[in-house]
Amino acid sequence: MEDQNNQPSRPQIPIWGWILFILAIVLVVQLYSSGQIFGNQEEFNAAEVAELLKNDRVEKMTVNGNRVLIEVKGQEEAVIWEKDAQSNIYEQLEYYGVDGSVWQDFPNLITPDGSRWDFLINMLFTLGPILLIIWIFSRGFRQIQGGGGNSIFGFGRSRAKNINDGDRPTVTFDDVAGVEEAKEEVQEIVQFLREPERFIQVGARIPKGVLMVGPPGTGKTLLARAIAGEAGVPFYHISGSEFVEMFVGVGASRVRDLFNKAKENAPAIVFVDEIDAVGRQRGAGLGGGHDEREQTLNQILTEMDGFDKDTNVIVIAATNRADVLDPALLRPGRFDRKVIVDLPDIKGREAILKVHGRGKPIAKDVDMADWARLTAGFAGADLENLVNESAIFAARRRGTTVTNTDIQEAFDRIVIGPERKSRVMDEEQKELVAYHEAGHAVAHFYLPNADPVQKVTIIPRGRAGGYVMTLPSDRAVETKAWFEDRIAIALAGRASEEVFFGQVTSGASSDLQQATQTARMMVTRLGMSDELGLPVYGEEQGSPFLGRSISSRDYSENAAARIDAEVKEILERNYARVKGLISDNRERIIKLVEKLIEVETLDRPTFEAFMNAA
Ligand code: ADP
Ligand code: MG
Ligand code: ZN
Repeated sequence: MEDQNNQPSRPQIPIWGWILFILAIVLVVQLYSSGQIFGNQEEFNAAEVAELLKNDRVEKMTVNGNRVLIEVKGQEEAVIWEKDAQSNIYEQLEYYGVDGSVWQDFPNLITPDGSRWDFLINMLFTLGPILLIIWIFSRGFRQIQGGGGNSIFGFGRSRAKNINDGDRPTVTFDDVAGVEEAKEEVQEIVQFLREPERFIQVGARIPKGVLMVGPPGTGKTLLARAIAGEAGVPFYHISGSEFVEMFVGVGASRVRDLFNKAKENAPAIVFVDEIDAVGRQRGAGLGGGHDEREQTLNQILTEMDGFDKDTNVIVIAATNRADVLDPALLRPGRFDRKVIVDLPDIKGREAILKVHGRGKPIAKDVDMADWARLTAGFAGADLENLVNESAIFAARRRGTTVTNTDIQEAFDRIVIGPERKSRVMDEEQKELVAYHEAGHAVAHFYLPNADPVQKVTIIPRGRAGGYVMTLPSDRAVETKAWFEDRIAIALAGRASEEVFFGQVTSGASSDLQQATQTARMMVTRLGMSDELGLPVYGEEQGSPFLGRSISSRDYSENAAARIDAEVKEILERNYARVKGLISDNRERIIKLVEKLIEVETLDRPTFEAFMNAA
């Protein structure tokens, strides 16, 4: 659909197809010449044929194995003689009185044509079945490889061709919705590709690599294609997962081919999908790295390092797991730009639904804003799926427009159906998450030593229902009051659940963990507890095996008990404090929750304006 320069290739007839074709033609010719197809000739016996010959009535005899076609003078229809297989024509006819003089007088009477055909036909009939079997087998193999594509036969010319031919996407930024920040960030890349001179002139280094991070189906591939589409440059696509099961060396050579092609056709975009499949931290885990992955990754890095200052090829990589990537990938001059492509919020979902509703006969009373509200947690791909399924439902009932009922049915099918990949929050859950996050956010706002809130959202991320993002300070040291507030903020979600619902949920588990860690650190490392004083408890050690620090215990049982008690006391004190704060601000939190349910995400200015106004 987006391929412009890739002409659809004509279907190729395999060599086996040709052989079968020829076989069929030969068969027809053979049947024709033996008179089996055209007309039912009269059958003569040897005596009758001998009679014809003796009376000089034979025009021509064509021999086909044991079958002889005899054209009789002055007679339209030929006759057939099925000769005895044991002896030849001459002997048989001689028995009936045809002597050698006939053959001497008319040397061209017998055409050996048929016997030549005979040879060919015999050969084809012997070889045919064998060829047929080979053909069937080879087809079977192709089907087996068809799925995975990584088999022994898989990396032949045709495959390399598929991969290495860039296409020129026609998608534009208009087709990508709900990820405005990401779009804005990549705008610059389009400029780089369009007018590289402008940047080179002022000595700016053109970025080589952009890493797109986000959950599956949020439009990373789409956005990368849209960049190529906007800039009008070819798009070369490879996927990290393709290399995982390959033979050593194949991945690297394919990467080399791909980059060469891209450089020839620069400006161009190379898109490396699922880079985490090859770009996982090397040497991590037991059993060492996977050779092929490592070589492929090294080749990608080598190619990128080898770009000249003015090589106008931009490498875009996508992953949903930035945390596992090899740090070598993220070094300056490689994938040093990171673009977050997150799940869309309510406005974003509405925009995406509208993009995919374009050109579809959506009924007038369908309000995409309503559907956006009901689809919290859906990624762009899920929304596209929703619109498509709705259209299918409409078509199935032979409707002319897509109605709310169609969308509802599609929605039920996606959410309840087995193929559901992402979760959707129901209203009740949304409210619970909103109260929890509002608790955190309000604590941030009112506690004097807290960092400001950067973003509050009730869109799920990973296992968290929602989250409050803060703007961390750049202070090198923090006060004890800051730590106390930090603990209070961490506990605020749980406190809010208790104040408003009178019950608690499992949603606070990581909050509790964080609060406990902070409290323990205050007591054992930072000397911030009057009860335990200044000593550091436990020696911190870097572990070469786990790659993170663990502490070994070098203090008494008694001290351990006192530490536990003190940590508990700090947590309880701060929990009581933040619960009081939340109770005091009931009205404001209720309003904030309403707002959150409505828009799902508040950025810093909106949040602060709301809190100051409310
Ligand atoms: P990802 O690469 O992040 O897994 P894709 O780009 O492959 O996601 O998205 C799959 C499909 O879902 C796209 O082709 C598009 O139809 C739809 N889609 C995903 N995100 C968006 C979006 N932000 N706007 C419009 N359509 C989207
Ligand atoms: Mg993708
Ligand atoms: Zn929380």
